[in-house]
Amino acid sequence: MAAEPYDMLVAGSGPAGMTAALYGRRLGLKTIVFGDIPGGNLYMIGNLSNFPGFIDGISGMELGAKLFQQAQAEGAEFTMSRLKKLQRAAGGLFQALDADGQSHLATTAVIATGRVPLRLSTGKAGLKGVHFCSVCDGPLYRNRNATLAVVGSDNAAAQHATTLARIAQKVLLIHRSTQPRMDAGHMALVQRQENITILGDTELVDLEGLDMLESLVLQSRSGQRRDIPVDGLFLAMGWRPNTDLLDLPLEKTIDGYLKTDTRLMTSFPGLFAAGDVRDTDLWQVLLACADGARAAKYAAEYISGN
Ligand SMILES: Cc1cc2nc3c(=O)[nH]c(=O)nc-3n(C[C@H](O)[C@H](O)[C@H](O)COP(=O)(O)OP(=O)(O)OC[C@H]3O[C@@H](n4cnc5c(N)ncnc54)[C@H](O)[C@@H]3O)c2cc1C
Repeated sequence: MAAEPYDMLVAGSGPAGMTAALYGRRLGLKTIVFGDIPGGNLYMIGNLSNFPGFIDGISGMELGAKLFQQAQAEGAEFTMSRLKKLQRAAGGLFQALDADGQSHLATTAVIATGRVPLRLSTGKAGLKGVHFCSVCDGPLYRNRNATLAVVGSDNAAAQHATTLARIAQKVLLIHRSTQPRMDAGHMALVQRQENITILGDTELVDLEGLDMLESLVLQSRSGQRRDIPVDGLFLAMGWRPNTDLLDLPLEKTIDGYLKTDTRLMTSFPGLFAAGDVRDTDLWQVLLACADGARAAKYAAEYISGN
């Protein structure tokens, strides 16, 4: 006999997905979560200092583990396998095919797959010494009097720079725009670190090195180029939402984020989106959690016809 369909399937095990699972279970929905890392991008946050209630902050890794345990304790099923494809099936259901070749059916789906950092387009992007996660790879430079560079100007770039400032001798925060895009709180954290130098109006145009990164080729707005020797580079230059798994006709923004209505439903009935993958205006943990809770509520209402 075919297994009973799930009420709600959740793609993504970051804060949005885990909170959707937690709320879904508390609303009585039979819930399954597909994902890889418990906590999603939380593992990249050394100290999450802007989440309400944690005066001294909380490590992203710790919050991720707690969210996972909480959703699991409420009875959400976790596959810890990525979703390869989500498509329509007979009877108005969604069919999910996971990376292990298993197929699962559900009445509603919440897409909470987040987004990934953009990579450099230069041929040297694969050099050793180019990274995306300061919490993970920063410690490689401990006790080396290293000069490290961060490219980007949003809150994530600020987080990378302040994490690395505790490890490196010098950190360069390089961005193209005249003004950084980080909020005032993150700007204050950056400015408090004497070993962070901000280079605005500056574009990273190439990398130098054979196997290992040796220097950055930077270009100022006036077109002047210079080589800056560095030991490591951390990229926070922009993002690409994770929507490749969706084999459904969906409305997206020009940057590929999923458009949703006021009930977080995408242009496909029964399919909801939550967190960083959605067309939002603040890509933050708090918003991801709030989205997850709301998506589960509206999924439950969709099932009961409200
Ligand atoms: C360096 C850095 C610092 C940051 N600092 C802060 C901060 O100080 N404060 C703050 O509030 N926010 C911060 N953020 C942003 C915060 O991490 C995100 O807003 C938040 O994690 C978004 O949650 P999410 O659940 O939407 O997505 P994510 O956390 O990205 O989780 C999505 C998960 O889905 C998985 N996934 C992708 N595709 C699939 C698939 N096909 N099947 C199954 N799973 C899939 C991904 O691998 C990931 O594990 C920071 C981010 C970075 C990178």
